[in-house]
Amino acid sequence: MKLAARVSQVTPSLTLAISAKAKEMRAEGIDVCSFSAGEPDFPTPSHICQAAKKALDEGKTKYGAVAGEPLLRQAIAKKLRVDNNLDFAPENIIVTNGGKYSLFNLMQVLIEEGDEVIIPAPYWLSYPEMVKIAGGKPVIVNTLGENNYKITPEQLKQAITPRSKLFVLNSPSNPTGTVYTPEEIRVLAQVILEHDLLVVSDEIYEKILYDGAEHLSIGAVNSDIFQRTITSNGFAKSYSMTGWRVGYAAASVEIIKAMSIIQGHSTSNVCTFAQYGAIAALKESQDCVKEMVAAFAQRREVIYDAINSIPGLSCPKPDGAFYVFVDISKTGKTSLEFCNSLLESQKVAAIPGIAFGADNCIRLSYATDMKTIETGMKRLSKFVNGISQQ
Ligand code: GLU
Repeated sequence: MKLAARVSQVTPSLTLAISAKAKEMRAEGIDVCSFSAGEPDFPTPSHICQAAKKALDEGKTKYGAVAGEPLLRQAIAKKLRVDNNLDFAPENIIVTNGGKYSLFNLMQVLIEEGDEVIIPAPYWLSYPEMVKIAGGKPVIVNTLGENNYKITPEQLKQAITPRSKLFVLNSPSNPTGTVYTPEEIRVLAQVILEHDLLVVSDEIYEKILYDGAEHLSIGAVNSDIFQRTITSNGFAKSYSMTGWRVGYAAASVEIIKAMSIIQGHSTSNVCTFAQYGAIAALKESQDCVKEMVAAFAQRREVIYDAINSIPGLSCPKPDGAFYVFVDISKTGKTSLEFCNSLLESQKVAAIPGIAFGADNCIRLSYATDMKTIETGMKRLSKFVNGISQQ
């Protein structure tokens, strides 16, 4: 059988593969410390679960509007106005199967054969693959650890060609945890406007910020950039709702209508009763978010100190999200070699940086409990000591 050529051009998702492997090993009784998927270890807050259960009991189990339940689109429009200073109406919003599908769908409606999409590296591993599946060309711009893995306005300018269509911005960033300051966002917006680009702003980690870091939605910089921005977000990370698969995009009515057409022929509506959980997440108290972020903040201190006390390893202190991006170049191993033998010998799961376009690094998610972090860091230290004695 001959599969379509597009499949062979795409790399499978390593974040999902390694976290599935870690879960499988644990199910077999192996004591694995997993720092793999970016998945909060907290249960979904109970008021959100209750709202979904109530929706089930009320029979909200049928097909719904393709672009999302009207009440959820209204709640998202309000959230974007209040939290992000983005003035959207419900018809500017599409509810999608996770934040991931909002991005996938967007590439389908925007990108044509040969269109270039500028992606700063390290990047979340699905961006380039989504561009390729849509027939576009990912243009990867390598950023530097010394610059906190931020693309500079000069780098962005240099990457622009007549085929450039879209710039992908992800702040706070997966995998580095870096957060662009409002001023940096304003300067990038200027470059985007000068070159008539579009920008997709993946804001899935917007609530997970530390030490007073500030999130500015690029679409809120001015009315011109607002017209050229697609904002993507979701409930998975802020509300610990990874398995619910509820995300969204906000953009011009033209883009949202086009995305609804693609969605109507692919996933249809997001699970109806899950959307009622999402409504409760937005409408009720935000204390659950604050509590989870406070826990991540403590874990961040512990993992950051532990990494930087292991000779041969180092990482910048992340300002947001729940990842540390650890430089392993002094160990002399590729990121895949490092992660494979770390899992095999110490039962510690981490994601090789090659998946994010940086083979000299590995990503550790600290959205896991403190005991796993403490045990995992001891094992990591033992592993790295073992390498240096080889
Ligand atoms: N986004 C999360 C991560 O990077 C979940 C897995 C995935 O969808 O890639 O680990």
